[in-house]
Amino acid sequence: MSRRLKDIQTMADLLKQGSTMTELSCPACSSPLFRLKSGQLWCVKCEKRVVIVKRGEQLVDSPESVLFTSLESTLLKRIEEIKTKMEEEKSPERLERLGATLSTLLENLKKTRKMRRT
Ligand SMILES: [Zn+2]
Repeated sequence: MSRRLKDIQTMADLLKQGSTMTELSCPACSSPLFRLKSGQLWCVKCEKRVVIVKRGEQLVDSPESVLFTSLESTLLKRIEEIKTKMEEEKSPERLERLGATLSTLLENLKKTRKMRRT
């Protein structure tokens, strides 16, 4: 499924769950923000929570959201590096070690993404 179709699907799901589309737009990608039933603002495209700061009603990412996003990109970069190494690696022992590292990185990525959504 294309990214755009996936976004539309997610938006439809959010609306079905009782979320509403707001007139606010995401500070990062300027997509329309959704207000979840919990009252939180959500960007479908960035897949993260957006927090409104009272000062001038400016939309900013929450500090933890910024942290998790940067953590996620660090992990993705490492995973990419491991992937390249695995493609070139001939030694089964080193391959196994790379595989173990990859598995740890993926586990961390999964946790990071889960935390980013809460
Ligand atoms: Zn966004």
